[in-house]
Amino acid sequence: GPEMPRPSYQRKIVVANQKGGVGKTTTTVNLAAALALHGARVLVIDLDPQGNASTALGIDHHAQIPSIYDVLLEARTLSEIIRPVEGIEGLYCAPATIDLAGAEIELVSLVARESRLHRAVHSLVEPYDYIFVDCPPSLGLLTVNALVACEEVLIPIQCEYYALEGLGQLLRNVELVKGHLNPRLRVSTILLTMYDGRTRLASQVAEEVRAHFPGLVLRTAIPRSVRISEAPSYGQTVITYDPASSGALSYIEAAREMAEMGARQQPQPADNNQHG
Ligand code: ADP
Ligand code: MG
Repeated sequence: GPEMPRPSYQRKIVVANQKGGVGKTTTTVNLAAALALHGARVLVIDLDPQGNASTALGIDHHAQIPSIYDVLLEARTLSEIIRPVEGIEGLYCAPATIDLAGAEIELVSLVARESRLHRAVHSLVEPYDYIFVDCPPSLGLLTVNALVACEEVLIPIQCEYYALEGLGQLLRNVELVKGHLNPRLRVSTILLTMYDGRTRLASQVAEEVRAHFPGLVLRTAIPRSVRISEAPSYGQTVITYDPASSGALSYIEAAREMAEMGARQQPQPADNNQHG
């Protein structure tokens, strides 16, 4: 498809929702792939000890490899651990290993424990148009590090009965981080995932979410699709695995909406990380 507009400043986007299985990782890797395939330079930071984003991008993440854990503990720089994603030019990944499971505890006693990722991201010299951070399903120190390092929060919401339940805690945490640690933080985007247009419930939930977050919900909803769930087992995004599938097309469309939204926005004054 045609190129997507590139942002005039680096967009840092944390993909968060403390519920597991709502499509955080799937959304992170597929939006990132879609943007990279349309001309952007994109970095995915895997901040989940499970390393699912690393797996989906075909990046080895067994216990001994240099990973985001080493960066958070300041043993390595972010540049040292970043790896190119095979088959998608312009896409890069900072992998997570299972070591990261201990970081939640190990960080507690360290100085600047909430801003370790922020420091690492801001000392990156390679230019990226987008940095996505894939969060674990919790609101602990790892997620707080992501909220401090980024400006935008993207919340994937699964179109099911309890969709909005539990979001209150995430939104309160966003406000807390905004108030104390990162004044530029804001919820910028909501993406409806695993949408089944044939059910009344899904369309009701979608309506409810749109009413609750006016202007933030992307028009494109991601359908429930077997191709999307198959892709990670091949170390691929659905966009490379089956580019003509409804799942791939919807993630490309959602990425285009995000790119266009960003093209209309100006960097905020305090942003000292402009380029391009
Ligand atoms: P999270 O990162 O929030 O825990 P995942 O992205 O890992 O969620 O998704 C949870 C599971 O649902 C995974 O097995 C994934 O492959 C599957 N999945 C995600 N989105 C879709 C979709 N649109 N259609 C079908 N399966 C999906
Ligand atoms: Mg995940």
